Amino acid sequence: MSEASGHRYILALGSNMRLSGVGGPRAVLRAAIEVLADQELDVLAVSPIIASAPVGPSQRRYANAAILVASHLSPPDMLSLLQAVERDFGRQRRGQRWRARTLDLDIVLWTGGIWVSPDLAIPHPAFRERPFVLIPAAQIAPGWRDPLTGLTLRQLEARAV
Ligand code: ATP
Ligand code: CA
Ligand code: CA
Repeated sequence: MSEASGHRYILALGSNMRLSGVGGPRAVLRAAIEVLADQELDVLAVSPIIASAPVGPSQRRYANAAILVASHLSPPDMLSLLQAVERDFGRQRRGQRWRARTLDLDIVLWTGGIWVSPDLAIPHPAFRERPFVLIPAAQIAPGWRDPLTGLTLRQLEARAV
């Protein structure tokens, strides 16, 4: 769908669980990107999917990626959209219980600069310390500057890894 307007966003995607009917974490991310492309945004660039080491001994490897999108949606509306897609993917009814989330969609940056509201902060507060966000993000938008540090994604990535 072509609904793009002035805003651009960098979104971070992560999964470390298999989803029945979809596949493993990489397949979850590919399917999520397809679903996002059908929403009120245009997908302008997709990074390669990377595998990051598990955080704890019992956890599975994560698949991570970043996408660059254009959309007329405001940050709160974008967050609502991402949370709806997370729900579609990550939580399946099993009896009365919700399964653990299989998909995490975060807003990393947007062209509006700094956004702070009670349930949303852009830039994402932790992205500068996360290679699994910086590596894919720097592949799709290396020259994009973090409004807080003034550093580009390429520079932040070089600092973090
Ligand atoms: P982290 O934010 O450290 O990566 P997480 O992604 O696992 O952790 P979630 O449980 O997915 O955390 O989200 C918790 C809340 O974070 C959301 O309900 C949302 O309101 C808030 N939030 C704040 N800033 C952002 C952002 N830039 N992108 C996505 N969610 C955000
Ligand atoms: Ca996250
Ligand atoms: Ca999240």
